[in-house]
Amino acid sequence: MSVFSPEEIAAIRGRFPILSRVVNDKPLAYLDSAASSQVPEQVIEAMATFQRTTRANVHRGVHRLSQEATEVHEGLRDRIQRLLGASRREEVIFVRGTTEAINLVAWTFGRQKLNALDVVLAGELEHHANLVPWQIVAAERGARVEKIPALDDGTLDFEAYERLLDSLPVKIVAIQHVSNALGTIHPVERFVQAAKRRGVATLVDGAQSVPHMRLDVQALGCDFLAFSAHKMYGPTGLGFLYGRYELLESMPPWQGGGDMIDKVSFSGTTFHEPPWRFEAGTPHYVAPSGMNAALDFVEEIGMERIAAREHELLEYAQTRLREIEGLRILGSAPHKAGVVSFVLEGVHHYDAGLFLDQMGIAVRTGHHCAQPAMERYGVTGTIRASFAVFNTESEIDRLVAGVIRLQKVFQ
Ligand SMILES: *Cc1c(COP(=O)(O)O)cnc(C)c1O
Repeated sequence: MSVFSPEEIAAIRGRFPILSRVVNDKPLAYLDSAASSQVPEQVIEAMATFQRTTRANVHRGVHRLSQEATEVHEGLRDRIQRLLGASRREEVIFVRGTTEAINLVAWTFGRQKLNALDVVLAGELEHHANLVPWQIVAAERGARVEKIPALDDGTLDFEAYERLLDSLPVKIVAIQHVSNALGTIHPVERFVQAAKRRGVATLVDGAQSVPHMRLDVQALGCDFLAFSAHKMYGPTGLGFLYGRYELLESMPPWQGGGDMIDKVSFSGTTFHEPPWRFEAGTPHYVAPSGMNAALDFVEEIGMERIAAREHELLEYAQTRLREIEGLRILGSAPHKAGVVSFVLEGVHHYDAGLFLDQMGIAVRTGHHCAQPAMERYGVTGTIRASFAVFNTESEIDRLVAGVIRLQKVFQ
């Protein structure tokens, strides 16, 4: 019994205008939602309508348009609070995306917290966005970043992690919830709780989890969590940082400018309370209208059903791909999101990507901004198919047929 009937799947697909595109004379099979998901018509329409009717800067004017724009913006803050189960709306900070959210934490909290010889622990599979900012700030502070080793199946070694927590001066744990490279869903609450018991701060990279499953930051217990709107059927240039209020209050500002201040004079400046202290300058104020529509879309279908459907697609893809000789799937964790990463004997991932594109199939190839993960599994890159609620079994069949043809051409 499938999660959706064929009619429901057709209706969902019909809501995404881009899915009717033709690429290289073939219908587009978009299997790259882990890089960026597509947007339904209602998101495009909401942003266009906002531009036509409401466009104005937020938090500034007393005029009608500015007030309406501010209502949309601050209304989205409430909605993200509910989405994440945060205890107050002031725990939600608007940023450009996951990368900016993590940089914000590294440059404020991290810089304040880290002293010489201190350690940041990061998973071996982290996206570069959850590794490089820590390396830069750690270097400045004379601290260092150490890895939580990954096991052969694509999970993280929890015992090794606890040993590291007990033997090193760890101040911060930075860990992904779901691997964008392999699809592993890490039992992140266990990792967070283990850090918490030892008084270590935690940041969860939720870029691949928030769009695909229900989560609750209070149940997780993390101090920070980051995600991007563009991976959740929403607009680019918008993301969110959740931070526990007590910590946000203790953190210095990051960027200075308009909107983040209380009083400014040449003898000194005082800063606004969180979250506004961390929101300098004009935000991407058109994007919240689109994100509201994206959240409507997710609610209309239901996160549980989206997750169930993506799991169905994952299982189908893994079963079909395993039938192919000379194909190796990386990552066999018991819990995986809708991401399947594989390598082909004798075929470079770059050639595979070009070949599949000729067939209208959009997959990601390369290191997926996770070079340490690639190194861990002894590859330079993989071919990655990732799923969203609009994908179908027949698109996966096309991928499988494409791979088989590709092998014939290259071998
Ligand atoms: C995409 C991604 C990021 C970076 O997100 P941006 O939107 O590019 O800032 C970070 N971590 C993971 C796991 C990702 O998949």
